[in-house]
Amino acid sequence: MDFLISEEQKAIAATARKIGEEYGLDYWREKDAKKAFPREIWKAICDAGLCGVALPEEYGGSGLGMLEMALIVENLAAGGGGSTVGQLFMINPIFGGVSISRFGTKEMKRDLLPKIISGEINCCMALTEPDAGSNSLELRTFATRDGNGWRVNGRKIWITGVEAAAKMLIVARTKKVEESKRRTEGLSMFMVDVERKGLTFAPIEKLGTNTLSSCNVYFDDVRVEGNELVGSVDGGWYELLDVLNTERIVTTAGLVGTSELAIRLAVDYAKERKVFGKTPIGAYQGLQFPLAQAWAENECARVMNHKAASLFDRGLPYGSESNVAKLIGAQAAAAATERAMQTMGGMGYAKESHLERLWRDCRLFRFAPIAEEMILNFIAGQNLGLPRSY
Ligand SMILES: Cc1cc2nc3c(=O)[nH]c(=O)nc-3n(C[C@H](O)[C@H](O)[C@H](O)COP(=O)(O)OP(=O)(O)OC[C@H]3O[C@@H](n4cnc5c(N)ncnc54)[C@H](O)[C@@H]3O)c2cc1C
Repeated sequence: MDFLISEEQKAIAATARKIGEEYGLDYWREKDAKKAFPREIWKAICDAGLCGVALPEEYGGSGLGMLEMALIVENLAAGGGGSTVGQLFMINPIFGGVSISRFGTKEMKRDLLPKIISGEINCCMALTEPDAGSNSLELRTFATRDGNGWRVNGRKIWITGVEAAAKMLIVARTKKVEESKRRTEGLSMFMVDVERKGLTFAPIEKLGTNTLSSCNVYFDDVRVEGNELVGSVDGGWYELLDVLNTERIVTTAGLVGTSELAIRLAVDYAKERKVFGKTPIGAYQGLQFPLAQAWAENECARVMNHKAASLFDRGLPYGSESNVAKLIGAQAAAAATERAMQTMGGMGYAKESHLERLWRDCRLFRFAPIAEEMILNFIAGQNLGLPRSY
């Protein structure tokens, strides 16, 4: 087992850190306040070739792997962006890039991958529905056969990045549950234009991750062409899982970078701040221990996430590792931002300290893209062999 990062990987991580720090905390505070897509940094990321790091070389990518992508996201997040950087990679190289490069047609790869890699277009993915959250197999959005294509009807919720996206990966039923042998049968994925007759959306007011709006999406008889199918008809569930498990790797990487950043902000503050006499507050163990605990948990999440990414890159099963890394990474980030805020007292509550954004944003990832209870269900079933309660 090799835990060492190669010289090439160090250089990629350093490039990401440089871009992350060049834009820095003030850039993100401004974008958060304006609820604006972080176009400038995304352009810089794409121009440096970081969006396409794990996508095929023949379409403009670097042909490297998820480990390199995790290193990039960690460093951009730690450089100032925090956990929402993971979402930027989720919507583009994962929802767009992984789905197309693994399951898309040749034409789709040729037409869309270069545009995703260069940042010319953004993507998003529509899976969650009002009545199908953690239980994705309950989704009801239906694609009915119509000539050589389909007509889609239904509703999605919480779809992130729609307003900035040109393409949407839709997950829909193409066969009714009642007519399928198993509930995992009868799902399909489609890559469609966001601007299309019958497809409408409206943003939801939310707590954080403000630079990427999340929307209710409505499909009213939306025409989908035959060549917009991604993967197989009715066999989309297992293909979707590959997309979702890589999504977990970038999510965790964003959280790992967030913890690192929050702890650094708190430590810098605690070394300077004196309340009683000459002793800086950072000398108090009551403040040190929780930060040290969060640091330790974060390092475990980082290593487990790198393991998940390395397994994926070698074509080996990585579901357990990516789930465990996401579970611990989200908890560590919640603890790190919470304890960093406590360390900074009132200053931690002020917008100027940046912590409140990191704290708000990372809260999301304890229940999305998969809730920690569902990860524990997965571990109990898959790793411990316990019976299901639901
Ligand atoms: C800001 C934001 C952005 C998002 N972006 C996207 C996106 O881009 N695309 C997309 O498709 N979706 C997106 N989502 C949806 C997200 O993936 C879901 O919110 C998440 O999967 C949880 O589903 P839910 O909210 O319906 O919660 P529910 O499934 O209703 O769960 C509620 C609670 O019940 C618990 N629970 C449910 N079942 C069990 C069980 N069997 N055992 C124990 N506990 C259980 C859950 O763990 C959770 O704590 C986003 C959500 C948010 C809030």
